[in-house]
Amino acid sequence: MRFTVYTLFPGLIAPYLEEALLARAVRQGLVEVELRDLRRFAGNRTGRVDDAPYGGGAGMVMRVDVAGQAVAELAQDDPPPDDIVLLSPAGEPLTQPLVQELAQRRHLALLSGRYEGFDARVERLVTREISIGDYVLMGGELPALVVMEAVARLVPGVLGDAESHQQESFTTGLLDYPEYTRPPSYQGLEVPEVLKSGHHGKVAAWRRLQALRRTFERRPELLERAPLTEEERALVAQWRAEAD
Ligand code: SAM
Repeated sequence: MRFTVYTLFPGLIAPYLEEALLARAVRQGLVEVELRDLRRFAGNRTGRVDDAPYGGGAGMVMRVDVAGQAVAELAQDDPPPDDIVLLSPAGEPLTQPLVQELAQRRHLALLSGRYEGFDARVERLVTREISIGDYVLMGGELPALVVMEAVARLVPGVLGDAESHQQESFTTGLLDYPEYTRPPSYQGLEVPEVLKSGHHGKVAAWRRLQALRRTFERRPELLERAPLTEEERALVAQWRAEAD
């Protein structure tokens, strides 16, 4: 999986790629990240890539021609990106299904904004816009890292245990079940007995029930789309009736 990130601040992103699992994935050649400085396209000696907004108002806007040169440069890449993503609070929300879709690509380009964001015409130059959540950050560097990390961990070989992302939150359509490790007792807080029973069937059933219950309590809207058995749907209906 290859990522090409355009940013005004490559130095904000680079250190994150030098530690832990992402660093290992890069060393092993499973993930390739190229950081490209948008200032190269400023076309002036000061390196300014922004200008005042038409119509007035606070802040500066990143120029469309700067993004246009990045997109033209990407077309020369071998292979060119399968998607050119503009990181924007107004984009499609990043969800695990979207992450799974992006993980099928060979090459993803990510365009990070700053200031008031890019000139709106940039939306016509990219293939999609992604938001990492309903809040506004100062720039697209953290969103680029969030997208890269979420996608990279689905690349085969990046996580040690191939199964470790099969059961986690959102992949099953539910939140993850609660996990415990030693010690079995901590200040009166106990690990549930069933997990110490060694009975795989009972453990699996308990975990599924916990995942269902947690999702019902914390993110009930996820249950609308989660693949549930008839029995689980009936159970959720019963919980709903009890809660009313
Ligand atoms: N004026 C913009 C708005 O209200 O939508 C916010 C611009 S923000 C200060 C500057 C840049 O940060 C954006 O161009 C985008 O690249 C990035 N950014 C900020 N929050 C983001 C989010 N939630 N998801 C994705 N990118 C974000």
